[in-house]
Amino acid sequence: DVDTQREAVLAALDNVAARLADEKKYLTNLDSEIGDADHGTNMERGFGKAAEKRDEFAEMDPHEIVKNIGTTLISNVGGAAGPLYGGSIMFSSQELQDGITAETSVAFAEAYLEKVKDRGGAQVGSKTMVDALTPAVHTYKKSIEQDDLPPLTALAKAVDAAERGVEFTVPIKALKGRASFLDWRSVGHQDPGATSTLFIMEELLRTAEE
Ligand code: ADP
Ligand code: MG
Ligand code: MG
Repeated sequence: DVDTQREAVLAALDNVAARLADEKKYLTNLDSEIGDADHGTNMERGFGKAAEKRDEFAEMDPHEIVKNIGTTLISNVGGAAGPLYGGSIMFSSQELQDGITAETSVAFAEAYLEKVKDRGGAQVGSKTMVDALTPAVHTYKKSIEQDDLPPLTALAKAVDAAERGVEFTVPIKALKGRASFLDWRSVGHQDPGATSTLFIMEELLRTAEE
């Protein structure tokens, strides 16, 4: 019911915020190699602000909480990642209006991926968060719709796919974002935004397992 789903969303938010705080240095180090060394700080600040809104969220429907997390990220993450994460979460939250089910979670994931690609213009191979997100969303959708797997199993497979997507960013050249200014010098470095996408997905899985 609504209360259980609200608690699940809030638990996920806490876990994501805590993980990004733990990984702040790591993500910022990745961004220092091919960007401006702020991705960890940006993500910690944004999700930290969202997690602080727990009291405001206490009365809201799950989809409204998700929407609010999005707007909070837009105003607090900054940089390229803020509008991409925040705007896409905000937009795709409408897919959860009828509650969070296997079906609506697939719709959410697909809308999120489409919005990120739309806003940022990146494709698979541009060395961005899209490289982690695309195989993850496709795997999640296929696992649920074609293979009829339970959402938890589907999410675990999606996390594996995201992990391979993150590894795929290492040997390729950045075509979007700050890293693209480096041209071939971006080769050999792991993309920070793909990595934070993986961390967030790992925490969604961990929350669902609990
Ligand atoms: P900034 O580069 O403005 O400092 P961040 O460091 O917070 O912002 O985020 C950088 C990450 O954002 C990159 O690692 C990449 O994954 C992602 N990113 C940047 N530009 C785009 C884009 N056009 N489309 C998708 N993702 C992008
Ligand atoms: Mg940066
Ligand atoms: Mg920046």
